[in-house]
Order: sequence, then C-alpha cells, then structure tokens
Amino acid sequence: MFQTVSLNTGLKEADSCCSWLGPCLIICLGFSLTGASKAESFELSYLAAQSEQQEQVRQVLVESERLEYAIEGLNQLFNLPLTIKVNVGGEQGPLHDPAQQYINIPYEFVSGLSRLYPEREDLLDVTVFVLYHEVGHALIDLLELPVPAELEESADGLAGLLSIELISDGGAPVLAAAGLLASRESIAASHPWFGQAGKTSRSRKLICWVVGSDPGRLGWVAEDAGLEAGEADRCPNEYEEMRGYWVELLRPYLRRR
Ligand SMILES: [Zn+2]
Repeated sequence: MFQTVSLNTGLKEADSCCSWLGPCLIICLGFSLTGASKAESFELSYLAAQSEQQEQVRQVLVESERLEYAIEGLNQLFNLPLTIKVNVGGEQGPLHDPAQQYINIPYEFVSGLSRLYPEREDLLDVTVFVLYHEVGHALIDLLELPVPAELEESADGLAGLLSIELISDGGAPVLAAAGLLASRESIAASHPWFGQAGKTSRSRKLICWVVGSDPGRLGWVAEDAGLEAGEADRCPNEYEEMRGYWVELLRPYLRRR
C-alpha cells in the first residue's frame, strides 16, 4: 500500500533494519500497516483546500502518500493514551495545539516552502520533517517529557530521531530541514515556525545527528556541510546520547518495548 520512499538527495537506501526497538517493521519485514486493534495514536486528515494554489499542494501531498507513510510509522511505534489528530490544511501553523491535541500543517505553509524547494521530493522531505517536529512538540506536551535543551531544539531532536529511525532514507528529511533552517531567505527567515534564534545551531545539530546515525555511510554529509573533522567525530556520540535519552523516556508508550 505504501511505497518505499525513494529520495533524490544522494543518501543511499538503508541496507539494514533500523535499530530502535524494532519499530521499522514497515521497512524491514513488510508487515501490514492496517488492522490495528485499538484507536490509532495519530490520525491524518486532509482538510478542504481554499484556493487553486492550495489544491495543487493538497494533490502533491495526497498523491505522494509521504505523510501517510510517516503517520503509519508512528502508529506502528506508539501506543498513546489518546489520538492526536494531524490536520493538513487549516489557517494557522504549523503548530501543535496542546489544549485540543491536534497538529495543523497549512497548505499555505507548504506552498511557501515550494518556492524554496521547487523539486517535489525536496519539498516532501522538508514537509515530513515539519510534521515530525510538530509530533515532537505533541509528545513532549502530552507525555510531559522533560526537555534536554531549548524547546525547539528538543522537538528537532525527536523529529530527527523519528525520521532517521522510522522511515527509509530518513536522513533526507532531516537534511532538508537543516538546509531550510540555515537559509536566510524568504519564509525561512520570518515564519514563526523557525523561531527567533538559534537557527544555525539547530541546523548543525540536525546535520550532526544524520552523520552520527551512520558515520560509515554518511560521513560525506559532514564534509558537504562543512563540519570540521573534530565536530564530525563527535556526531556518533551526540546521536547516541540524544537517541538514548528519548528512547528511555518514550519506552512506556511504545507498542513493542
Ligand atoms: Zn517548534
């Protein structure tokens, strides 16, 4: 039902099963993605488009099935006490509403991104990361998780982890987001989603996590991004620390522990 994600960023297809407590059933074992026995932890809806431009964005997202794939990965992994609704469309956001536990990703926002990312796959990559970033906020809030760093950086950490560990070639969305945060142009500089400060350090952290997740295969990313050798050498530890921190906190809410 869901195609294997094939990306054009130069990252190679993962050649081994992901290691995070076996959540990568979709990729590794080809398990059916349907038929869960209880309410899903995340529920994806596409709201009606309000303009022709929004409709074009909606069609790109729907046809790609990339958000479905990302959500199904989450539902395979998590057993949350309630369902978090993920609405694509709406006017405000990207945001997570802590009062009503929903996530909004407006078509207008994705349309704005498409001016920076004219290539379809790049646009989809960065949209997937935005989704996981908001999921990070939702998990931190709903599960009252203590954040190890500034809130945006913590949400990035969870987003990076989910992307890298849950989806095939999951480094690509993280690198796309790193590029966006590093950009000083257009909405990247002004949209509230990107926060007021620390964009460069957030971008470098994302790059470092991708490198650290598989240094043998992805060492070229550090070079490409201009990380100094000493900095790149620390990335595997940084990734393992970040991963260990979140896995421990999230363990009670995983379907397979
Ligand atoms: Zn945020």
